[in-house]
Amino acid sequence: MRLDTVRGLEKISRECRSVLMRDHEMRRRGTIGIGGPAKVWYMPLSENELERSLKLIIKSGERFFISGNGSNVLFPDEGFNGVVVRPGEQLSRWEYSERRLTASSGMSFSSILGECVKRGLSGLEFMAGIPATVGGAVKNNASSYGGAVIDVLEKILVLDELGNKVWLSRPCLDAGYRKLRWPGGGTILRAVFSLKETSPKEVAGAVKTALSQKLSSQPCEKRTLGCVFKNPVTGPPAWKLIHEAGMRDEREGGAAVSGKHANFIVNEGNATSRDVSCLVEKIKSGVEKKFGVRLEEEIEIL
Ligand SMILES: Cc1cc2nc3c(=O)[nH]c(=O)nc-3n(C[C@H](O)[C@H](O)[C@H](O)COP(=O)(O)OP(=O)(O)OC[C@H]3O[C@@H](n4cnc5c(N)ncnc54)[C@H](O)[C@@H]3O)c2cc1C
Repeated sequence: MRLDTVRGLEKISRECRSVLMRDHEMRRRGTIGIGGPAKVWYMPLSENELERSLKLIIKSGERFFISGNGSNVLFPDEGFNGVVVRPGEQLSRWEYSERRLTASSGMSFSSILGECVKRGLSGLEFMAGIPATVGGAVKNNASSYGGAVIDVLEKILVLDELGNKVWLSRPCLDAGYRKLRWPGGGTILRAVFSLKETSPKEVAGAVKTALSQKLSSQPCEKRTLGCVFKNPVTGPPAWKLIHEAGMRDEREGGAAVSGKHANFIVNEGNATSRDVSCLVEKIKSGVEKKFGVRLEEEIEIL
């Protein structure tokens, strides 16, 4: 990575009093606790700072990765020779008017759900227990228990790959299973959700139900990336295929199939990215051999 790009970003970060670290271990960031050093890890604190820094990175042609909470991304052991940009929590701009909630990309869904409960806003309860930021949940079209981000998403504000700021509404958004695409690509700065007004009690009840379902069926207290594989379009879900292929006790180094939910891989303490990748391949071949079904990753292996 070029030194003048690093210095340019350091200058912006100093002016904005935000956090930029060189050679930052990514294992300290994502939910699975794995990954070597990113050349630069940078957390802009305002939308203006995020825009300035992204424009500089785009102009320099440097490699970069936009990260949310890293709850779906496996970072490589050898690190990342570029900039990991994590839109900061302080970007947390929250606006509500006429059943429309606007949230900035760095905001975590746990904060959003807290506000929804307080104000009695319904529509995002299915996100309870998903450790996502707004940017990550929108980009992945996160879903759970029959609800999906696209069902309540009205529009997004994006800084596209050429550095232009554009609002994109539903007809421009191509949503699928754990993915959202739009013309011009780029970074989500804000998202607008269309919600219903009910009562705080009702929303709190729905959040509690979703949370307890997750806590009872998933290893939420362990270091994981959530479900590793997508469910096949037809037939049994991935966890069932893994279970019935006899792979429930499989492990590789410090990575193991969760005893609570077979579609989760747990970092038992010292797992490497290579351990997880090997276990992923082992599971895929085991399931294919037994059922002739090739599982596809839901997690992103960087
Ligand atoms: C315990 C646990 C339970 C989970 N349960 C579920 C579940 O029920 N349903 C579900 O769908 N997922 C689930 N997940 C997976 C994960 O939480 C979701 O995919 C989530 O949406 C990822 O959000 P994030 O902020 O961590 O994004 P990251 O993992 O950091 O990034 C995900 C993707 O989004 C991109 N991205 C992030 N921010 C932006 C932005 N501002 N602009 C453009 N792109 C961006 C990244 O580049 C990356 O490609 C679970 C994970 C865990 C650990």
